[in-house]
Formats: sequence, structure tokens, C-alpha cells
Amino acid sequence: MAFHKYLTFSFDDGLEQDKRLIRLMKKYGLKGTFNLNAGLFGKKDWVGRIGNIGFKEYNAPGNHGIIKTVEHFRIPKDEIRQVYEGFEVASHAYRHEALPGLKADRFDEVLGRDIDELSELVGYQVAGHAFPGGMSSKEARAYLKERGILYGRGAFSSGKFTFPEEPVNYSPTCSIKDKNVITLFDKFLASDTESEDLLFCVWGHGYEMDYGTARASEEAFEKIFDYVSGREDIIYCTNKEAFMHIHED
Ligand SMILES: [Zn+2]
Repeated sequence: MAFHKYLTFSFDDGLEQDKRLIRLMKKYGLKGTFNLNAGLFGKKDWVGRIGNIGFKEYNAPGNHGIIKTVEHFRIPKDEIRQVYEGFEVASHAYRHEALPGLKADRFDEVLGRDIDELSELVGYQVAGHAFPGGMSSKEARAYLKERGILYGRGAFSSGKFTFPEEPVNYSPTCSIKDKNVITLFDKFLASDTESEDLLFCVWGHGYEMDYGTARASEEAFEKIFDYVSGREDIIYCTNKEAFMHIHED
């Protein structure tokens, strides 16, 4: 086989729930990437949700009618290196700033500083970025590229397995709480790699497994991990490794 199939996971915000994700991912031999904000380590807030849709950060927990909250507690700085050992750490903007409309004179402070501080903390050069809120701009992408960022990940499900023409503007295959993860994965298994490498990238947030719904719970996530793991023809790796096409025979 000249080309390969890569399967990756990409989780955002650097949350306490990542520790549970990592435990599960290790159990199933899976690899992946965690996208962190160097300016927000240890910060505690709560995400409001209705059903499977998370949409707003609160500074207190509660059940506000149909809006429920789940913990969105970020891992403290002194634990980062140890928690993410064996996984890829990538950048996610210093304080999770939105990139569309962000003035170029703030790129150093929002993107550059995040890349530098994370790289220093984990002991290797950070090579990936996930756009906060899934949105970017042409200027921000150009800056990331200039700063040595190999790929930039959005947050809208493409349903596709192809590597993007512009790696710094990549839409993942699906969200871990999408309805069709298993169906898509079956399609991925059946896809041929005669002419190109393929990538199946699942993105999400650790807090989504605390929703306790059919598609967003620890059990639901584990079911996906179990289903996609241990397949002969698939390379389980980080996004950096996939975008570097680590297996190039
Ligand atoms: Zn985020």
C-alpha cells in the first residue's frame, strides 16, 4: 500500500475532563492532539448547554430552566506537561480570542505568545493550531504559517477524509458527538488509498462527555473509541504526525 489512512482526535481548551479522555484513549491505543490556551491555565467556568449544544460560558454553575451547565475547568500550568505526555499539544489562541476581525497588530500577543509559551512548557515546537470557535481569517492563517504552524483546524464537520489543499485551513471530518460518526468511519474503512493519503479527524471538547445525553457521555465516547480502535489498516496518530504524513513509503 503506497498511501495510508490516518485517524486522529483533536480536543480543545485544555480541560480537567481531558484526563479521563486520555485514560480512555490509552486504553484503546488511540492518539491525538489537545489544543490549549496558554493564558487561561487553571481558569474555572461552566458551559451552558441545551441538549447536545454547548454555547456559553458562565462563571457559576446551575440549572437555568432548560439550560444546564457542565464544568469547564482548565488544567493548571504545572500539570500540563505530565498530563499530555505522549499526546500532541497544539495552540488555541492565548486567551481563546476570536480570530475573525482580529487586528494584525495583535497576532503576536494572541497567537505568537500562545505558540511560544506552550512550546516552552511542553519542550518541543508546537506545530498545530485550532481556531477558537472554529473561525479564522486569511491574515491569521498567514501569520500562523509564518510562525511555523503546519496545520490549522476549524470546527465544522466536513464529512470528508481528504487532506486539505491548504493545511492551515482544515475542517475536521466530524465532531465526536455527531450522529454519524460510526457511519462515516465505516465509509472511511471502505475508502481506497490507491492515489492519496486519507485523514479521519474527530474533534470535540472533554466537557461534552459530561452532558449525559445519548451522544455526549463518557459511555458514548468510549463506544466510539472502542469501535474505531485496533483496525489493521489505520495509523493512529497525532494531527502533527498525520499532516507530516509520517508513513511515507
Ligand atoms: Zn475552544
